[in-house]
Amino acid sequence: MEAARLHHQTIYIERERNELVARRLSAEQINAVFEGKYRIFSREKGSFQCGCCGERVVMVLYQDKAIFRHYSSERCAGERNYATYLAGRETQRETAIKQSAGKEALHLAFMQANRSGHYRVEEGYLFKKELKAVPDFIVTFQDGEQWAIDYIVTLRGDNAFRKRIDNRLRGYREHGLQPLFLIDAGYMALQGERSISFNHSESRMVVPKNDYSRAWETYIAGQQLDWELFERYFGTKDVSVQSLLYMDVEKGMGQLTRFLQLSDKWGELLFAPCEMPLDQLLAVDEKLLRESGRYSFSLFSDEEPFLLHDFTDELEVRLRRFEEENERRAMEQEAARRARPSKVVKPVYEEIDKLHELLLRCQASPNRPLYPSLEPNLAKAEALIALYLEGGEEAEACYKSAFSILMNISYPLLGE
Ligand SMILES: [Zn+2]
Repeated sequence: MEAARLHHQTIYIERERNELVARRLSAEQINAVFEGKYRIFSREKGSFQCGCCGERVVMVLYQDKAIFRHYSSERCAGERNYATYLAGRETQRETAIKQSAGKEALHLAFMQANRSGHYRVEEGYLFKKELKAVPDFIVTFQDGEQWAIDYIVTLRGDNAFRKRIDNRLRGYREHGLQPLFLIDAGYMALQGERSISFNHSESRMVVPKNDYSRAWETYIAGQQLDWELFERYFGTKDVSVQSLLYMDVEKGMGQLTRFLQLSDKWGELLFAPCEMPLDQLLAVDEKLLRESGRYSFSLFSDEEPFLLHDFTDELEVRLRRFEEENERRAMEQEAARRARPSKVVKPVYEEIDKLHELLLRCQASPNRPLYPSLEPNLAKAEALIALYLEGGEEAEACYKSAFSILMNISYPLLGE
């Protein structure tokens, strides 16, 4: 593993190594630095301790990395966690570099955010029990509550990725860990001013609800809105506020988004994504601590209380516009429906029985096995006729396509 206790300190040897690499020291020079600085503690004094099990660990220096290792690693959950953690890391060079940079940015933010020492931050693999999935960090608040912190450098939309997130969350739940995902800001997708798009994996990586998101829910639910209309618009009468947290590694900034879920892929933002320094987001909410004795990260924007009115005022306008749009569309459809029979649908309807009968005869034709290549066309004609019978704007085009397909295939099948 990359961290070990030395007296009252935690030594992050790989982090130190990266700094030396950045200063352009060669592998030999780096190892010489570590030999001079730590060898005596590692070998002669035996004073490095595992941050997980407390057993003695020794420094091992390679050409391309530096780690601490147990004499006997079988008994240590941390050592097994470290192997699991490494196996889950990105392998592609560019992504791996970004992933490390993200972890560094978080480490730095935690150092700055936790000046008053309200919590302890550790490498995720130093968790005392073996984990199925190992987070980047584990934060332990003074009241014992623990959070698993992950930077998501790669987000995919497939089911395998979603299952991986589900398994990760299940593992965290089993150990009472609250999840906090910081998704790379490159994956934040907004449309217009109000809409945020998310995939199934992201919908699982939402920030655990806090007093601020609940305040939104209570406020919106208490409004005099047309709730029937609200239900038509959002697909539910429930007011459920979700939050996703994105992270811009280069800027060291977080982007906090909150939204009402509109469907399983879209949300309606409560306010424009709020860009905030990571150390501000990861600091303990001092006000909450003073008032209630509870510990939580400051996962909110100071401006939120002032944005409630704006949102609900605008929401009323949007709901009204949505209703007007619906009414307009319904009127247009009704007008089209009334106009259609005289122009298009009626004469075509007279022929549909004949066309349907032709389809049935083609399907029953004894010649059918001789022309397997016509099967897709038969199926298509059947589907088009079904679509035609459903009506709608495309009905006429469906009828015409079915007609021309059947005209073409009726000769080989029926000889007519
Ligand atoms: Zn150990």
